[in-house]
Amino acid sequence: MTSYADNSVTVLGLGPMGRALAGAFLNAGLPTTVWNRTPGRDRGLVERGANSAQSAEEAVAASRLTVVCVVNYDASDAILRRDVVTDALKGRTVVSLTADTPDRARDTELWAAAHGIRYLDGAIMTPMATIGTAEAVVIYSGPEQLYREHEPILTVLGGTHTHLGEEVGRAAAYDIALLDIFWTAMAGYAHALAVAKAEGVTARELAPFARGIGEILPPIFEEAAAEVDLATFSGEDNPITSAVSSIAHIVHTSETHGIDAGVMRAAEGWARRAIGLGHGTDGFMRITDVLSQH
Ligand code: NDP
Repeated sequence: MTSYADNSVTVLGLGPMGRALAGAFLNAGLPTTVWNRTPGRDRGLVERGANSAQSAEEAVAASRLTVVCVVNYDASDAILRRDVVTDALKGRTVVSLTADTPDRARDTELWAAAHGIRYLDGAIMTPMATIGTAEAVVIYSGPEQLYREHEPILTVLGGTHTHLGEEVGRAAAYDIALLDIFWTAMAGYAHALAVAKAEGVTARELAPFARGIGEILPPIFEEAAAEVDLATFSGEDNPITSAVSSIAHIVHTSETHGIDAGVMRAAEGWARRAIGLGHGTDGFMRITDVLSQH
C-alpha cells in the first residue's frame, strides 16, 4: 500500500493556474506531486521540490488530496475517468478547481460517489497572479465536512476561501454568474473603445473616464441586488424609459460608423419588452424579472 503524508497534495494540470496552485503548496512546505498531460511543464516546480509523477494514476496515488485544474471538465474527465486513475482515487479526495458549468459538477459528484471518491467542486475568481496572496478568492461547494477536513491545505492558496453550501453546483453557479458580469463588461469596454475610436477619441483619452464608470458600479450593484431580491424595481431616479433612450443613442452612433451593436440591441430589446409589459416607470433591473419569465 502506498504511504503518504496527511498534508500531501497532488496537482493535475500545469497550465498557468495549475503551476500557480502547485507553487503555493510548495511555498507552504507541503509534499506536492505534479502531473500534466504534456510533459516538461513541471520543470520549475521540480526545481522547487515538487515530485514529478510519470502518470496521472501515479500522481493521485501519491496524496490524500488531488487538486485538478485544467481547461474544462472534458479535459478533467479525460484524465480522471480512465479506469487506472479512477481506481487509484478510491477513498481519496478530488477538489476540482477547473472552471465549467454547474451541471458538470453535479455529474462529477454522481461519478465520484459511484466510485468511492470524495469530491468537492471549486472555482477561482481571481487571476493566476493572485494565488498565494491576500487577493486570491476561491469558492467551494459540496460536503461541508469534506471541505473542513481539507481546509488547512486549501487555505495556503491565499486570500478568501468560502464554502457556499453542500449543493455541489453552487460554486460553478457563482462562477458563471460572476463571469457573466466580467465578460459582458469586457465586451462593453471593447465595443465602447471601437465606437470612441470611430469618433476620433483614443482609448487612452477615454480610459480615465471609463475608470470613473467602473467606480460608480459597486454601490449600484448592492442596491440593485436588494431590489431584485425584494422585486421592488424602483424607477424613481432613473426609469427604464430613460435608460432605453440612452441605449438607443449608443446603437445609433455605433451603426452610423458601421460598428455592430448586437450587444446593445439585445439590452435595448429587453428594456423595450419590460416597457411593453407595463413596467415603464420601473428601474432598469426590472429586466432581471422579465428575463426570468419563460
Ligand atoms: P488553461 O485553461 O489553458 O488550461 C491548461 C491546462 O489544461 C493544461 O494543463 C493543459 O494540458 C490542460 N488540458 C487541456 N486540454 C486537456 C485534455 N484534453 N486532457 C488533459 N489536459 C488538458 O489554463 P489555466 O491553467 O490558466 O486554467 C486552468 C483552469 O483555471 C481553467 O478552468 C480556467 O478557467 C481557470 N482559471 C484560470 C485563471 C487564470 O488566471 N489563468 C483565473 C481563474 C480561473 P497541456 O499542457 O497538456 O495542454
